Amino acid sequence: MGIVRCKVHGEVGVNPWIDEKIVNNIRFDYQGLPPEKEKKIFVVTLQCVFDESEEMEVFNINHYISEENIYKYKLKHLYRISTEEEEAKFDKKIPQLGVTCGKCFEDYIEKYNIEVVREWEIK
Ligand SMILES: [Zn+2]
Repeated sequence: MGIVRCKVHGEVGVNPWIDEKIVNNIRFDYQGLPPEKEKKIFVVTLQCVFDESEEMEVFNINHYISEENIYKYKLKHLYRISTEEEEAKFDKKIPQLGVTCGKCFEDYIEKYNIEVVREWEIK
């Protein structure tokens, strides 16, 4: 995770796993332009299980995806990967991601009372 200098929050950690569409809306909002606000943001969890050495490495990466793209890309709430090939496949499966200040992202969710959805069914 990198560090960014945010105009509002100073030096803070970035969240690089946010749908670019949402990142643009946060930017519009900051500039006082009426953003096409999200009502819901969906969390797509990538569970990484790498067993390359004797040590098993397990970690989750949460991706925050707009409602539109969840249906467009037909995404599930959980993916498990254990190889770099699978990781590359996953990267092709999800929409373009953008980077934003982690705190601005939290503020945006709170300001517009956006529902964070963690489980769903694709119809
Ligand atoms: Zn910020």
